[in-house]
Amino acid sequence: MSFHGLLPARPKPCENEHFLSWLTRVARANQCDPTQFTQVVLSGLDVWGGCVNGSSSLHPETILSQLTNIDAELISNLYTANYARRHFIELNQLFASHYLLPANCAGRLFTCNWIQFCPSCLREQKIAHFKNLWRISFMPVCLIHKCTLHACCPKCYKPVNFHRVSYSTEDCAECYNCRFPLSSAENHTVTDDKHLLYVCNLISAGIESRWVRLSQNSSVLMPLFIAGIWTLLKPFFRHKTAPRVREYFGLQLSHQGNNIKNFCHFTPTERCQLLSSIGILLRHWPETFLSTCSALELNKIAFNINEKDVPFWVDKILRYKVKRQPYWTSDAEFKSAAMFLKRRGYKVSYPNIAETLGLARSCQHNKCRTKIIKSINENYHSTKKFHWK
Ligand SMILES: [Zn+2]
Ligand SMILES: [Zn+2]
Repeated sequence: MSFHGLLPARPKPCENEHFLSWLTRVARANQCDPTQFTQVVLSGLDVWGGCVNGSSSLHPETILSQLTNIDAELISNLYTANYARRHFIELNQLFASHYLLPANCAGRLFTCNWIQFCPSCLREQKIAHFKNLWRISFMPVCLIHKCTLHACCPKCYKPVNFHRVSYSTEDCAECYNCRFPLSSAENHTVTDDKHLLYVCNLISAGIESRWVRLSQNSSVLMPLFIAGIWTLLKPFFRHKTAPRVREYFGLQLSHQGNNIKNFCHFTPTERCQLLSSIGILLRHWPETFLSTCSALELNKIAFNINEKDVPFWVDKILRYKVKRQPYWTSDAEFKSAAMFLKRRGYKVSYPNIAETLGLARSCQHNKCRTKIIKSINENYHSTKKFHWK
């Protein structure tokens, strides 16, 4: 194959198409296996793993522009990083590091579920292609067809590897492993889940217009909205709060881990469950959120508001509106409780002090408090447990 001058077939990118999807179509239109095509045309540049989000330093878009006569800028617009940048998401921010699905690529093969798809969209597209929108972990739903997206082949559960589908087939929308036509995967409708649709519509509005309207008189910029969702998700993953929060919302998640970083590893159905709960919290912001916090006894600690990526619209509510739990007893109160226990002959310990303060036998530990306990216990000893009767 000669790669001087223009390629014989030069398919145009579709709107918001993923770079690798377009590249696959270019190779296939020229009767080439996509991975061999890039081997020759891009001198073996590892675009499959390397350009899954953005351009590599070797700028394949420049070479591809010369070969296709398509503007290099138009090609670089296909990179997911540039797509996200258009709605102001910079992928290196803490909250945004899980905005996209993880993409591990080994030997030009994606080994994890890195892109989702809507079977109906694939079926209805004039030219089957994969969209940047389907990389977004916060968007497990197709709003056109109101159904859950698929993240892998429904038959053999292998990740999408459209570039590994034989170029002799009609299009690349089939499973590279078992040849299942992805467009005939089953549609799982979400029409009934109004909370999920509510939050997905907000995200979609943010992608389209960069602004998200939270309530009649408050709108936030898209990255701040996503950072807010990230904050609101924290109690679903914190060791201490996850069991009761998940139970309250009736979530059934396969990963029991309490690490929020698991979010992008969950299946679309599980992410739908989590986002549906977020949808409930966002309704009539902040009233429903505040009543839920109070019902679940969630205080601001559950949202880790000391992290730097908590946006103002959530932070101000958490700081000033979320009911302060007795968790905020001061060190002075702590000392009085310790003295109270000593005078009555009880053991001076954290659990006893917590109970004295009306907490469930646990309270915040700090150096000052440990010192108070230590100094009392220097010339005092008791093992008597304290309980309010
Ligand atoms: Zn669709
Ligand atoms: Zn398959």
